[in-house]
Amino acid sequence: TVITRFAPSPTGFLHIGGARTALFNWLYSRGRSGKMLLRIEDTDRERSTQEAIDAILDSLQWLGLDWDGEPLSQFARANRHREVAQQMVDAGKAYYCYASQEELAEMREKAKAEGRPPRYDGRWRDRDPSEAPAGVKPVVRIKAPLDGETVVDDKVQGLIRFPNKDLDDLILLRSDGTPTYMLAVVVDDHDMGVTHIIRGDDHLTNAARQTLIFQAMGWDVPVMAHIPLIYGPDGAKLSKRHGAVGAETYRAMGYLPAAMRNYLARLGWSHGDDEIFSTEQLIEWFDIDAIGQSPSRFDFQKLENLNGHYMRSTPDTELLEAFRSFLPHIEAGNTVMRWLEDTGNEASFLAALPGLKERAKTLVELLESARYLWVQRPLDLDEKASKILNEDAQGVLARLLPAFENLDVWSAEATEAAVRAFAEAENLKLGKVAQPLRAALTGRSTSPGIFDVLDVLGRDESLARIRDQAR
Ligand code: GLU
Repeated sequence: TVITRFAPSPTGFLHIGGARTALFNWLYSRGRSGKMLLRIEDTDRERSTQEAIDAILDSLQWLGLDWDGEPLSQFARANRHREVAQQMVDAGKAYYCYASQEELAEMREKAKAEGRPPRYDGRWRDRDPSEAPAGVKPVVRIKAPLDGETVVDDKVQGLIRFPNKDLDDLILLRSDGTPTYMLAVVVDDHDMGVTHIIRGDDHLTNAARQTLIFQAMGWDVPVMAHIPLIYGPDGAKLSKRHGAVGAETYRAMGYLPAAMRNYLARLGWSHGDDEIFSTEQLIEWFDIDAIGQSPSRFDFQKLENLNGHYMRSTPDTELLEAFRSFLPHIEAGNTVMRWLEDTGNEASFLAALPGLKERAKTLVELLESARYLWVQRPLDLDEKASKILNEDAQGVLARLLPAFENLDVWSAEATEAAVRAFAEAENLKLGKVAQPLRAALTGRSTSPGIFDVLDVLGRDESLARIRDQAR
């Protein structure tokens, strides 16, 4: 069975690139009835925090990316990592190195002077520990092959060859006995039964070093796929400068998880010219073969348009649920949440939704255009709305009122007919009536269709808001 893993370092929020890595691992395993495991790479004790772990898990959950079993702590497995290092020493695949800081610094200086990358020269490879200087705590280093090459058969990047002379005897255990990242990753991937490693191509060099450890232990090297990193629209590596990079920010910006999955899947992976995929299709079609070799560019506009598509095509009740779970993540959320809980308000919201979702590209836009539903009288008018409601406009509203008050039936059609008849009788353009109405009903100069607004607000609330502004 296929076993993938997502292995975030909990030093901050989930980066959008990490979210894509998680998605690829998830899609690959879910499409093959496999498993996706989660490993928290928390060995950097200074920088790893519980808040970061919580934030990462929360973002994964929001994106709908579930994992199998309990998340595993890499730090908690240090004893096992030490045990493997010991096995390697016992088998002659690793050795104790007593080189002092001064000696190492010397090697670095020498390499620098000769214009080549620093490299440990292997001086303790074949020395007997009995020669060890007193009082020096050794590190454990791998006995890497001196010649030949290490080949990473990468499913995205192709065959990558690393001359072994460039891969020095990397440290497995530090002098204080703590395992290095390189050792920990390999032992964990092996013990977790990982069959496929899908991660960013910034780990490609690590892949060669890790391959050496797998081979030294006689373990199968998992299938590797190193995916090109995500770039910004300007072609530089995606960073804060380009806009939001934290996955959780996209939740607060009102993006839907399904749209995010769709968008992120297309960042680096393609399926013909298709742009829109249901999650089921993604799971069915996703494959490593179709991951491209060139970096993809994050296109904020495209994401927004795609989200708009998902907003329009999500059934109203589902969109309401998405809206509810979005509310806790924004400032105005509490007010709106409380409003939704009052009798009848959910029904009003659902009644307004078909009109609202046609225009809103994000839940934030939806919130803004639905605002008229929960604002309280007397309404705060924004600048444009107060300008519209000048004396003339206030008079128009005052004269329109009786027509509304006399309506037998209150509906979008009925109010529209009344407004048209009124405008004709007064010889006014429709806008001269609709604009003041919009300002009075919503406090804004733009809003969803004004007759829908009248319908959703209902007779009493609509008349009260108009009376507030009529003179
Ligand atoms: N913890 C590493 C990172 O966050 C991932 C290591 C791996 O996937 O092997 O970049």
